[in-house]
Amino acid sequence: MIRSVCIFCGAKPGLAPTYAELARTSGRAIARRGWRIVYGGGSVGLMGEVAAAALEAGGEVVGIIPAILMRREVGKRDVSRLEVVADMATRKERMIEISDAFIALPGGLGTLDELFEVLTLRQIGFHHKPVGLLNHDGYFEGLLAMCAGFVAEGFVRPGDLDHLMVEPEIESLLARLAG
Ligand code: AMP
Repeated sequence: MIRSVCIFCGAKPGLAPTYAELARTSGRAIARRGWRIVYGGGSVGLMGEVAAAALEAGGEVVGIIPAILMRREVGKRDVSRLEVVADMATRKERMIEISDAFIALPGGLGTLDELFEVLTLRQIGFHHKPVGLLNHDGYFEGLLAMCAGFVAEGFVRPGDLDHLMVEPEIESLLARLAG
């Protein structure tokens, strides 16, 4: 049963205003389900939008941020709980530990780092938690094609990617995560 979902997404807003809209819709949808959001603790970019929208909708939001990023990502102090941790590795570890599922929204290198961390940890059996990718307007199409290539070339077992849930809309993704 899912009670906490971890969101990975851009610390930047992206160019099109639709990305912020997507982040807000996602935050609200998760709050409406009564699921707690775990995220990187910042108030900038899509991260900040997800958190603010979930809080406005009455949801619970836990931010986990390394002390060194408190200033750069403007640590969001009005979340339900803000954990300031020692470093980036501890942040990822803690986010993974206290979440029951993971969702990646559009983002950049940090988002991919976090997504692949949970995928590789699942690949080696460290956890069996569901992982979802919100492929809004085909944002991750290139990445998915690349991953299919890795499978075709024998570097990734098909089973290690089959469980990645890819959906274009947040509602269908949440429904699949909920099982
Ligand atoms: P980005 O997708 O690059 O905007 O980053 C989104 C989130 O990933 C932010 O919370 C960043 O702090 C985090 N992040 C950025 N770089 C890294 C990294 N090298 N390792 C882990 N997380 C990162």
